[in-house]
Amino acid sequence: MAEKIGVYFDESSIGQYFDIEALVEFVKTRWATACPVVTSHPVLPGEDGVKMIKADIEAGTIDAVLVCGSSPRIDWEFFDFGKSVPSERVNLREQCALCCPAEAGEETKVLMAKDYINMGVIKLQKTRVPAPEQIETVKTVLVVGGGWTGLHAALHAARAGYNTILIEKEAELGGHAAKLHKTIPLCHPYTEAHETGIEKLIADVQAESRIKVMTGTTIAALEGAPGSYTAKFSNGSEDKIGAVVLATGWVPQDASILEPLGYGRFKNVVTTWDVEEMAKNGQLLRPSDGKPAKRVAFLLNTEKAEPSDLFKPKAPAAPVEDEAKEEGEDKKAHKHVDLESARHLPYSSAVNSVISLKEAGYVTEQYTDGQAYIIYKDMLVQGIHEKYYKAAQDNPGVMLTKGTIVSVEEDTDGSLLVTVANTLLGQDFELKVDMVVVPTGIVPTTAKNPVMNFKYRQGPAFPDLDLFDGFCDSNYICFPYETRRTGVYAAGCVRQPMFMDNAEDDAAGAALKAIQCIESANRGVAVHPRSGDLTYPVFNFVRCTQCKRCTEECPFGALDDDETGTPKPNPTRCRRCGTCMGACPERVISFDNYNVDQIGSMIKAINVPDDMDAGGPRIVVLACENDAYPALDMAAMRGKTWSPYVRILPVRCLGSVNAIWVADAMSKGIDGVMMLGCKYGDDYQCHFVKGSEICNRRKENIAETLERLGVEPDRVEQYQVAIDEYDKLPAMIEEFQNMILEKGPNPFKGY
Ligand code: SF4
Ligand code: SF4
Repeated sequence: MAEKIGVYFDESSIGQYFDIEALVEFVKTRWATACPVVTSHPVLPGEDGVKMIKADIEAGTIDAVLVCGSSPRIDWEFFDFGKSVPSERVNLREQCALCCPAEAGEETKVLMAKDYINMGVIKLQKTRVPAPEQIETVKTVLVVGGGWTGLHAALHAARAGYNTILIEKEAELGGHAAKLHKTIPLCHPYTEAHETGIEKLIADVQAESRIKVMTGTTIAALEGAPGSYTAKFSNGSEDKIGAVVLATGWVPQDASILEPLGYGRFKNVVTTWDVEEMAKNGQLLRPSDGKPAKRVAFLLNTEKAEPSDLFKPKAPAAPVEDEAKEEGEDKKAHKHVDLESARHLPYSSAVNSVISLKEAGYVTEQYTDGQAYIIYKDMLVQGIHEKYYKAAQDNPGVMLTKGTIVSVEEDTDGSLLVTVANTLLGQDFELKVDMVVVPTGIVPTTAKNPVMNFKYRQGPAFPDLDLFDGFCDSNYICFPYETRRTGVYAAGCVRQPMFMDNAEDDAAGAALKAIQCIESANRGVAVHPRSGDLTYPVFNFVRCTQCKRCTEECPFGALDDDETGTPKPNPTRCRRCGTCMGACPERVISFDNYNVDQIGSMIKAINVPDDMDAGGPRIVVLACENDAYPALDMAAMRGKTWSPYVRILPVRCLGSVNAIWVADAMSKGIDGVMMLGCKYGDDYQCHFVKGSEICNRRKENIAETLERLGVEPDRVEQYQVAIDEYDKLPAMIEEFQNMILEKGPNPFKGY
């Protein structure tokens, strides 16, 4: 606990908004014992300002630092004084001076500043110096999947100096890349398909002494936690590993959904993947009679086969569990569902557009009189591949047109008749071709199989696969490579449909992420998204009732449990989101620098007048520090203002909000609590995947708590905001404020 807090005001950021001397005097009087140093500096985030603070630390005058000035998101690099000296920031510029409307008056603004300063001092008083949990770390990277991506990932990890194990389920390395006739152009001049280069890549991997290759092998079980996993393999062997690159790639979609385009009805309707195999084997031939396929239609417009509700938001499906119980425990056995989704075809559209250009080229390359037709709805060609598209347009053997497929029928000689409407040519037409090619939907292997076979309480597969069409990543916007299991990093087509050049980049990213994970585990710090965080959830088991809420709600499977239901933390799996802390009704879980008592005490430190007419309504905003808090900063920096009776407290994630904080606020006389967090659902943006969604689900518990207190449950509301929606925040706050105004003051006010 900080006992000697140095409080430093930065004149450069807030001097123009406040009488700093008066604020210094306020702190000296209010916190005389707790804060032996209270002073200001012309430019605190600078060499001289930092030197001044360090001198006080070295002299032993202070053991913690409170900086009052701009947002903690600015100049943060100046205020790190090592892990034994806790440091906090009070945001007196963006979320006090700038957001305070001019008409509120000086006195109201200063009252706001004093509330924030008081909360800052209390926060530090309730902060312990973190003692990182360090484990003996295994510095070996496991790469699962020996295709193009996995081979590159293994080389990157090994060349960075890490022992690497590469496993491949097939007997040979190479994956899908080894089955390609050619790749789309990956280098200058980007106009011609060429050899993949997979043989050289395989040879490089085999020549690398740090890589151990095991073919015909899958993972039977992955036990443990990042930095110290035990991987058990299907061949009966096992190894200790530190982190995993998941490069298991994709499988072709069940093409029967393309039956309206003739697939499965007519032998000469094949997929792009079938064409690749034909080309690799030497010749494009009609499957029905082995005659040359010289006239080939590539049908990229698959609207005819798509269900009308394809992109309607899906309700999250309940986790599928087998009712069978193992003896002596109540855990339900996990049953993996095959997540074939019609959406994988449109997700693969950009890849299929360019693949059709390549395979149209196979037709004209093999037959001088060959003719390929590409009928598309949208030709999705990105970036440099535009050159390849132009080259195809210049090829007299390739005709491209936008068009709607009206029908595909078989002629008496086995040829196919394709009727096309709404074309760019201005007229409908019918094509008679030898073969029709339909696209291949790229389905991540994780949609079909648990793959990793985690020995986790939460089951062997990645969670929420049903919600995200089988993709296992954790936050595709902010954190590429991260999966919903810390320590496992996805790369290549298991992450999203992509070409070989992107997959190569992906492999490098995921390998580096795996290395970062190992090194973070070695230092006892979080790897992401709170990189470098020294804290982790600490359990006071004396009070634990084994209710299992924490183990069930942890989005990352960080908590196992024993046979009695007592949680078994795995610090290196943990992302420090605090969701377990929010879930625990007994307040058993805390972090050294973030805990139930700390935030509750901060709320109780807010000055609330007995009468709402004296200033109000008083509102506490519990703002997610990832998106909502910076959005509030941005709004204020762009001249937006809101009620000066709002107090904003950053939280790690809305999932970490404990119902007791709401009770604390209500018993203090606060009129309303607004929970401001990331979007959840189909287009979720929560950094911790489920935090804001879990918070929404917990509203019922909060409502019960409030009803017990005799307070209307709708004094608490959750709002969703994206980081770029900062301009909507003042209206959101106003809407909530008006709702509270209609209700009148909190009945607890004045007690
Ligand atoms: S802090 Fe988050 S990731 Fe860690 S154990 Fe708790 S809920 Fe799980
Ligand atoms: S939520 Fe709290 S009381 Fe329940 S099992 Fe977890 S630590 Fe124990």
